Amino acid sequence: MVCDVIILGSGCAGSTAAIYTARANLSPLVLEGREPGGQLTLTTEVENYPGFPSGIQGPELVELMRKQAERFGAVYSAETVTAVDLSKRPFAVKTEENAYQARTLIVATGASARLLGLESEKKLMGRGVSTCATCDGAFFRNREVAVVGGGDTAVEEAIFLTRFASKVLFVHRRDQFRASKILLDRSRKNPKIEFILNTVVVDILDPGKNEVSAIRLKSTRDGSETVRKVDGVFVAIGHDPNTKVFEGHLALDNGYIVLREGARTSVDGVFAAGDVHDSVYRQAVTAAGAGCRAAIEAERFLETEGR
Ligand code: NAP
Repeated sequence: MVCDVIILGSGCAGSTAAIYTARANLSPLVLEGREPGGQLTLTTEVENYPGFPSGIQGPELVELMRKQAERFGAVYSAETVTAVDLSKRPFAVKTEENAYQARTLIVATGASARLLGLESEKKLMGRGVSTCATCDGAFFRNREVAVVGGGDTAVEEAIFLTRFASKVLFVHRRDQFRASKILLDRSRKNPKIEFILNTVVVDILDPGKNEVSAIRLKSTRDGSETVRKVDGVFVAIGHDPNTKVFEGHLALDNGYIVLREGARTSVDGVFAAGDVHDSVYRQAVTAAGAGCRAAIEAERFLETEGR
């Protein structure tokens, strides 16, 4: 059987695309991917998604989107795409379990925040450890936080966090930055930001209490260790778009899918939505908007083919 639409990914972008294509009677198949629900499942409270004046838990929000899509006939399957062939139509999509064919594809495989790889970081994710200052900064009003990284994202997040936090420790493993000079100069002038350079975070305390109370730091110069009290840790060491399987099939820029116009990728009939093409906004609401756009374009594409 050839599906009209296969959606790869089940975060905000994928599920919004599923709602729209299901309501257009295209019976979308959603291959959920390795992180079902996407990055929202790593957050706790979401306060900036319109329509929820008291906030909503991230996992609950994606679950509601999924239910909404299923109500109109979208089918979700717990599979991850392992290979594609986009050189001819219908497109071929392989998972570990199955082989599918699709007239159109919506790629919403998202991006994954790079992590430090600490056990404590994993345990405290969403409980004081965050990968998104825009999402979680407001929870740290008058509290002390640390930002880890040395690129534009880390500097931007550190500056943003000074709106709420009483102090921001900026921890970077070198004393040279990838961040642009203009942003860096701005952060250096900010009295709330303290730079701790040539230093790595080796542990986050205290998983036993289920909250962040401090970070253990290690100097890359002399190996000496210190503990600094903080209430939150923002890991800003970059993102990796989940596009490995599309290498050689779709035009990519730095790993992100390149869009020609609207949601169209370099291959006719393949559309993309969400963090997989967006390294700038990375918000639930922008991903949802992009999912809607991709769905409408897939629908119109099929229409022009007389389907
Ligand atoms: P990035 O430029 O790749 O920087 C990542 C930073 O994290 C680097 O400084 C790196 O240190 C550090 N890092 C990586 N792995 C680490 C680890 N395991 N432990 C400790 N530190 C680690 O990533 P980004 O800041 O997210 O920026 C991504 C792209 O978006 C860039 O092109 C950036 O210019 C762009 N961007 C632009 C803006 C803007 O223009 N307003 C805002 C945000 C992002 P090293 O330096 O030692 O490798």
